[in-house]
Amino acid sequence: MHKRKPNGDARKRLLEAARRAMKNAYAPYSKFKVGAALLTTTGKLFVGCNVENASYGMTNCAERAAIFSAVAQLGPKMEIRAIAVVNNHNAPCSPCGACRQVIYEFGPKAVVYFLGSSGPKELPVTDLLPEGFRLK
Ligand SMILES: [Zn+2]
Repeated sequence: MHKRKPNGDARKRLLEAARRAMKNAYAPYSKFKVGAALLTTTGKLFVGCNVENASYGMTNCAERAAIFSAVAQLGPKMEIRAIAVVNNHNAPCSPCGACRQVIYEFGPKAVVYFLGSSGPKELPVTDLLPEGFRLK
């Protein structure tokens, strides 16, 4: 059985990995670089960064980049245990609505680490996305 919540070391490792990935972000328009790192229930780590586009609507978030990479590597049964998101302005920044739904799809029990308006936060994705959409 896997633990629902990673320990403090895992959280630190995730935040560090997210910061490293953030440095690779492609954000020439907003200058708002974001990095994400996720830990799967099998202990694997994946990272992502935001990738903007001159056609703004095609911009992709760091969280989804990390999740899609994990699915590409591990397959559709990949499950997220925890995901961390950081940005280069040290600004409060929780995952956007679209990413919350995608985190929920692959990790209904996932814990999300982010900077809230009053400091670092750690919340189950279901607190960020009550009544998440599911087809099954
Ligand atoms: Zn997003």
